Amino acid sequence: MKNTIITTNPYSHKLIKEYDMHTSKDLNKILNTADARFYKWRQTSIKERCRLLMNLAQILEDDKQELAELMTNEMGKPITQSIAEIEKCLTVCDFYATNADDFLADELIETDASESFISYDPLGTILAIMPWNYPFWQVFRFAIPTITAGNTAILKHAANVTGCGMAIEALFEKAGYPKGCFTTILAGHDAIENLISNDKIKALTLTGSEKAGRKIAATAGQNLKKTVLELGGNNACIVLDDADLDTYMDTIVNARMQNAGQSCIAAKRFIVTEGIYDDFLKRFKKQVAALKHDDPLKPETTFGTLARTNGADTLKKQVDDSIAMGAKLIVGNKKNNAYFEPTILTNITKDMPVFKEETFGPVAPIMKVKDVEEAFQMAAETRFGLGTMVFTQSMDTAHQYISTVADGAYFVNELVKSDSRLPFGGTKASGYGRELSKEGIHEFVNRKTVFIN
Ligand code: NAP
Repeated sequence: MKNTIITTNPYSHKLIKEYDMHTSKDLNKILNTADARFYKWRQTSIKERCRLLMNLAQILEDDKQELAELMTNEMGKPITQSIAEIEKCLTVCDFYATNADDFLADELIETDASESFISYDPLGTILAIMPWNYPFWQVFRFAIPTITAGNTAILKHAANVTGCGMAIEALFEKAGYPKGCFTTILAGHDAIENLISNDKIKALTLTGSEKAGRKIAATAGQNLKKTVLELGGNNACIVLDDADLDTYMDTIVNARMQNAGQSCIAAKRFIVTEGIYDDFLKRFKKQVAALKHDDPLKPETTFGTLARTNGADTLKKQVDDSIAMGAKLIVGNKKNNAYFEPTILTNITKDMPVFKEETFGPVAPIMKVKDVEEAFQMAAETRFGLGTMVFTQSMDTAHQYISTVADGAYFVNELVKSDSRLPFGGTKASGYGRELSKEGIHEFVNRKTVFIN
């Protein structure tokens, strides 16, 4: 019996395509090609790798509309957000084309040797397991630095965005990257377990759920392979009495509702001091009511559908259970297949699922606290550690709390977001390792000490 992957449009429910999965023989061949390619690719100059990066950026620009439509059809994101995602992929190509030479140069360190330095050598073939919520960006932010450092990459994309995975492989080929530099495999979970154990995979990265992170890291650990894990989040958005809501309300609502709330770094708990609480709630409600849900392919649509019906089912249970525990429903909580209405809840307690667990959809639990101290304390009460954001006009207050935030990021008067120039990653159950910036390109290299007496 053939193993297949079927992709379906979550908005129209129409079948998009059926793919045959790779057999174990196919996977071995792909792995051998990527491994053989590595020994040649690592000898190419950084200049040549950066030239290919610029080709890739140009193709992304040229094919932007078509790629964005593919993404929207596979996972339901509004087309304007899909276009913005492709444009963001251009930025990571530009960034490493400009900086890779610097980041990968030998780093001289004075010792008692006549010459000593760190040499940044690529490792080999790196396996990436990626999710569907930002089907291009998540892959690009891993692949661009990793391949530019001289590694080769194999991608196992989320099944529901298989078309995006195939399109990304085609983009690398069209840009002129030699065969084996970037390959997408169509494989199930068992096949991935086998791949991780294969000697030709040197390290791996997973962006996905905590559950998958624990499973993959355990197998990688048994095989003594390095992992980078970008997992779930439960970011707090703290709004203090002196927050400038006229300026930042759009940002705050966007922090929860963009991509229909399906973002690891979305604001998932709103912690608001009592002096501004009523005004904040009123404004939040008004802005949520103005979101426009329609066919995600229409440019005026600002709120799409969730990518998967089971995601909407999980969210419904989290909200219903929280309501049963005393949360007050202000608006929302209706679901239809993969669509989930933007939802606001108040009267939140810390034992409720919408506070304790990650809600991967458009659900905004809003809590009232008495002061800034209580706000930061409540923000820290989570197993996750991707980021915290605070909205205040007092830079003194914002600075004062930097050291109390144990997350991978702290954003003031801005939503937590990734930027090619800055490291991105989490702490605690949100995973470990960093992507992007200089840190990201150094994740999959051997930092080799060279000592010449
Ligand atoms: P998921 O179930 O963990 O899936 C993510 C990827 O892992 C998919 O490609 C999936 O493949 C694969 N996978 C899952 N279990 C696996 C296993 N045992 N063996 C091999 N592959 C496995 O995640 P999701 O629920 O779809 O995605 C949302 C989660 O990702 C959220 O928790 C979100 O916060 C997190 N996320 C984190 C970041 C970050 O940067 N920190 C960014 C985006 C999303 P299949 O599709 O074939 O199951």
